[in-house]
Amino acid sequence: MMTIKRVPTIVSNYQKEEVDEAARPAGGCKRNCLGDCCIQGAKLPLYAYNRAKKIATENAFVACDAKEPPVAFLDSLLLGEWEDRMERGLFRYDVTSCETKVIPGPYGFVAQLNEGRHLKKRPTEFRVDKVLQPFDGNKFNFTKVGLEEVLFQFEASRDGEVQFIPDAPIDVENSPSVVAINVSPIEYGHVLLIPCIFECLPQRIDYDSFLLALYMAMEASSPYFRLGYNSLGAFATINHLHFQAYYLVTPFPIEKAPTGKIVISNNGVKIFELLKYPVRGLVFEGGNSLQDLAKVVSDSCIFLQASNIPYNVLIADSGKRIFLLPQCYAEKQALGEVSPELLDTQVNPAVWEISGHIVLKRREDYDEASEENAWRLLAEVSLSEARFEEVKTMIFEAINCPIAETWSDASLDDAEAGHSPSRQVDSLKRGSSAMVVPGSHECVVLQ
Ligand SMILES: [Zn+2]
Repeated sequence: MMTIKRVPTIVSNYQKEEVDEAARPAGGCKRNCLGDCCIQGAKLPLYAYNRAKKIATENAFVACDAKEPPVAFLDSLLLGEWEDRMERGLFRYDVTSCETKVIPGPYGFVAQLNEGRHLKKRPTEFRVDKVLQPFDGNKFNFTKVGLEEVLFQFEASRDGEVQFIPDAPIDVENSPSVVAINVSPIEYGHVLLIPCIFECLPQRIDYDSFLLALYMAMEASSPYFRLGYNSLGAFATINHLHFQAYYLVTPFPIEKAPTGKIVISNNGVKIFELLKYPVRGLVFEGGNSLQDLAKVVSDSCIFLQASNIPYNVLIADSGKRIFLLPQCYAEKQALGEVSPELLDTQVNPAVWEISGHIVLKRREDYDEASEENAWRLLAEVSLSEARFEEVKTMIFEAINCPIAETWSDASLDDAEAGHSPSRQVDSLKRGSSAMVVPGSHECVVLQ
């Protein structure tokens, strides 16, 4: 078994100390937690989203109900409740006072100095060689957090209208999905989306939970609010299904990278490859519905999990663009193949780092942050070109969308970093003719 010593980030105040379960008095453990001991009669706000709302088409965001939602999801509910928890002192440090800068250069990597995040070190044996591991109720999981860390319940509306109930009972039997704070935030509004919390699902993507994350991105309706996912082996620190999300008013470098090579799945999802970016990855867009996009991406994730390939996912552009990044940093780390200088920085390249928002733990690294350094770190995370080609081919086979042999890379090779992705799509569409991939009726390739 391959293991590395690592310092887990604390995401809940209840993760810090193990609680003596036997010492809990009947009728409540006095921590006001989400466990059986305290959950009876507890209430939380409930936001029910409209499942019928359509995802963006090429040109515009289409909403089928013109009604104003009863509460502004991002500004009032999510960020409002988050600020309330900040005022109540629930965070381990004040992230809004952390130094942050955009590193000069065409990509605009964002560096943050966060010396407080890893002060409390608790070395743990963490298994990094298995992407799928069973849920272990004895280890820290989100049912052990305090109710005050949970902001609201998030579920599909039953009658097609957005609903908001400020004081809704918690229906444990139906295992609600909840949004909770991350007590070690790396940015403003840093939260966790925990699908079906009481089902105690292990960290692995499935269609329903991925679709839920897309609905949250769509509901937030801001290009600056992204969701991210780390698989086990790709710097997830807790094996209880969760997505992260936060609000940062700047484009991420990965969002500005040019893309090329298009496959279109039979349900209209376009798949691109990231170009001129240190980490190799795929970009998914479009589809006839949000469900189509969720299906193609979650099938790709399910394939990676089943193949024991660690990966990260970034949900950008209000759920309209998904970045899928298989990675091998932890594996290289365990094999002793990462340079000592990079290891010394203690940076764990998870989804945010890979997307270009790099949280640094040492003043010297922050002061010396450069595009070159960021690039060097991220290049270590990426699969090699040969391995990526292999993995990509397997993903396309798994989702029944084979790559055409005749592909040309030329279409976007001259694209400059910083071009907006939609402009590239447009220019591709203008100069392209659709054709069916030989031997397949599933995919259309644009050249
Ligand atoms: Zn309790």
